[in-house]
Amino acid sequence: TARKRFGQNFLTDEGVISSIVGAISPDNDHVMVEIGPGLGALTEPVADSIDNLTVVELDRDLVERLQVHPVLKDKLTIHQGDALQFDFSKLQQDGKKMKVFGNLPYNISTPLMFHLFEFAQHIETMHFMLQKEVVLRLSASPGSKAYGRLTVMAQYFCQVVPVLEVPPQCFTPPPKVDSAVVRLLPYDDKPWPCKDVNVLRHLCTTAFNMRRKTLRNNLKGMLDDSDFESLNIDSTLRPEQISVEQYVAMANLYIDKTANS
Ligand code: SAM
Repeated sequence: TARKRFGQNFLTDEGVISSIVGAISPDNDHVMVEIGPGLGALTEPVADSIDNLTVVELDRDLVERLQVHPVLKDKLTIHQGDALQFDFSKLQQDGKKMKVFGNLPYNISTPLMFHLFEFAQHIETMHFMLQKEVVLRLSASPGSKAYGRLTVMAQYFCQVVPVLEVPPQCFTPPPKVDSAVVRLLPYDDKPWPCKDVNVLRHLCTTAFNMRRKTLRNNLKGMLDDSDFESLNIDSTLRPEQISVEQYVAMANLYIDKTANS
C-alpha cells in the first residue's frame, strides 16, 4: 500500500513508463542512479538493459522488497536513506558521470532540485517526474508568472527540456495534480559563469522575496542605483522580468563590490 507521508504514487501506465525509459536512455558508460525506486516501475525496465543500477530509497519496507526482488536484487546497489541528505558525489566511479532519474515525491521536489544542482558537474543528465507546475517553473521564460528563483537556479546550471505531460490516471493511487517529465542537462561550460553560486542563490532569494515589488526595492542593501546603471538593468522592473544572464551579472557585481570594500 502506498504511504502518503512518503509521497508514494506508483507509475502504472506502460506507455508512459517506456517513454520515460527511452528518454533516460540507460547505458553502462554512466553511473545510473534512481531516486525513490518504490516498487520498481522504472527500476525494472531501466535495469533490464544495464549491468548495475544504484538506487536511493527512504522507505525501509520498500528497500527490503528490492533486496529480495528476483530480477533486480543482483543488479541493484541500494542506499536506504533520504535523497535530500545524500552525497551523490560518492557514486562517481572510474570517471563516469551519472545519469540520475526518478518519479519524485512531489513534496520534496524543489529542495531536491537545489540539492542536486550542487552535484551538477558529476551529472550528465537528469530526468524527473514532477508536478507539472514545477516543470513549468523550471522551464519558464522571463516575464512569465512561473519564472522565479527555481527557474533562475535551474537554468543557471542546466539546459531544461520538458519531455512529456502525464495525467493522474497513469499512477496508483492517482495524485491530485497533473504531472510532467523534465530533462535537465547540466552545462559543462556554463553560458554565464558566476564567481560564487552561493551569492547567486542568495541574490535570487532576495530578489524574488516580494514578487510585486521592483528589483530596486527587493535588492536594497545589495545593489544601488549606480550598480544597476553600470549593468544597464532597469531597476524599476519586477524580479520576473530579469534574465538569468542579468541575475548572474548582478551577483558578479555584488561579489566584486564586497571583495573591494
Ligand atoms: N519510482 C516509483 C514509481 O514510479 O512507481 C515510486 C515513485 S513514488 C512517487 C516516490 C518514491 O520516493 C517512493 O518510493 C518513496 O518511498 C520515495 N521517497 C520519498 N521520499 C524520499 C526521500 N526523501 N529520499 C528518497 N526516496 C524517497
